[in-house]
Formats: sequence, C-alpha cells, structure tokens
Amino acid sequence: MPLQAIAPHVWRINIFNFVNAYFIQNAEGDFVLVDSGVRPAANQLKAAAAELGRPPVAIVLTHGHIDHVGSAGDLARGWNIPVYAGRLEKPFLTGEDYYPPGDPTVGGALAQMARLMPAQKFDISDVLEIYPEDGKLDILKGWRIIETPGHSPGHASLWHEDDRVLLAGDALCTADMDSVVGMTTLKPTQFARGGTPFVPDWKEMKHSVGKLADLEPATVGAGHGHPMTGGDVPQQLRDFFHNFKAPEHGRYVGEPAKTDETGVTFLPSAPPDSLPRNMAIGALAGAAAFAILGRTRK
Ligand SMILES: [Zn+2]
Repeated sequence: MPLQAIAPHVWRINIFNFVNAYFIQNAEGDFVLVDSGVRPAANQLKAAAAELGRPPVAIVLTHGHIDHVGSAGDLARGWNIPVYAGRLEKPFLTGEDYYPPGDPTVGGALAQMARLMPAQKFDISDVLEIYPEDGKLDILKGWRIIETPGHSPGHASLWHEDDRVLLAGDALCTADMDSVVGMTTLKPTQFARGGTPFVPDWKEMKHSVGKLADLEPATVGAGHGHPMTGGDVPQQLRDFFHNFKAPEHGRYVGEPAKTDETGVTFLPSAPPDSLPRNMAIGALAGAAAFAILGRTRK
C-alpha cells in the first residue's frame, strides 16, 4: 500500500486494511511517524520511510494499544529514535500493567474479534519518552498534541492549526468498526466510535470528541478508516458529537475504569457474558476480517 497524501506534509499508510499510521514532515524537512501499526507492519513502514527518502526522527503514539504500538519498539531501536507517548499511557508501555481488559459484552464486530486478541504486557521503556505537558515538541513545530482520553487513559490527538489537520488516533473512527461490513471494508466513510470494546471511560470519550469537534478540522485522519476532508467535515464532526452515544450496555458504560501513573487502580466488575453464542459470532467476524486482511496483504 503506497503512501497516501491526505494534507500538506501529511501521509497516511493503511496497514493490512485495518489500522492507519501517518508520516508528518516538519518545517526542517524531517519526518515524524504517528503510530506504528501491528508488529508485522515494520517492513511496510520501513519501505514507506525509504520512499520518503529518510527515516523519521521520532515516533509519536496516540496511545499504546497493540495495533498502534506493535512495531514501535523494533523500528525505534533500528532507527535509533525515541517514541513519545502521554504520561498516563506510560504504565502500559513499560510492562508495568495491562490496559483495562477489553469488554466483549458491548456487542458489535470488533468486540467479537477482540475475544481473539489476548491481553499482553508491552515494554518499550528503553526507547520511550513522555511528551511535555504543553503538547509541543520541537520536532513537530506547528502541531500540538492534545489530550483526548477516554479510548485509553493517556490518549492523544495531533492538531495542525494552520492547515486544520487532525490526526485523531482512536478518539474516534472514520469507519464503523462495530459492524462486520464497516470493519472489513472500512466503508462507508463516516465518524464513528473509536474501538468500542477497548474504551474504559465513555464519559471522557464523549468529552474528547467534543474537544475535537470544537477545533473544526478540515481534514481528519483517524486510526481506523479512510481520511475525511472537505467543507462539511466540521459539521459532520459536530453532529457526531451531539449524537454521540455510549453502547447500551457494557462493563464500562455505567462506571469507568480508573487509572493513574502506576496503571489500573479500579475496575468495575465484568458483566455476565453469553460466551458460546458470542464465540460463534466472533469466529465468523474473525474469519471475515482475516480473509480481508489476508487478501490485502499481498
Ligand atoms: Zn486503540
């Protein structure tokens, strides 16, 4: 999959038709990689960097879920560059703790597929740096890192004010990952909830979507889905915020998980799960997804 220019100095790489990473070029001509896909994406990202003419000077993570951080350690060590993430993501990137467990009871395609993804601890402490509180990095002049928690405790989005470009990570999606069709085809392109089964705090997530809507972006590149661009994007994002709904039920819907710099400090109890029926649906959704992923890998 080639680099797709989505805005001035911003390119998208779609990894296995599932998750996006982005390259940003700064005023000095240096590149920064935003997110890094699943671990096997390393070769694809190395090829993309070669196409751009040089390796990036840093990796910035919107958050540390495995489909965004997977190849970050391998790439950062190979390129000898740092990986930046938010303060509250740190315990989940240094092997200290697991993220709050995914919630398969929220329903939807991704929730069933999530059953097939075992919880893992992830440790990139040797290359990890925490970005400053003002969200500004010298290597990202013109950009601001904005805290958008909810999908994960220290989730961040990247915002370029002058070009009105937003890289939103999983604060939202631009495809409906809760439907099998949306997850496997990434169509139609529309604002949707980001990674429903992995969201530990729905109130914060809605608040973060509102924060992003207030920016009135002209281009939005999310972690999953095709980029959205054009004059009606600000209104669509406002509408998405005003109509934003948490799932009807689920582990974190009534009460959020709580975390701090050390990791998880409180988890609501897991609701009963009708596992056998959902496992069957999960196997179907998983098979469909892997069929699509397999086809697009060639
Ligand atoms: Zn995520």
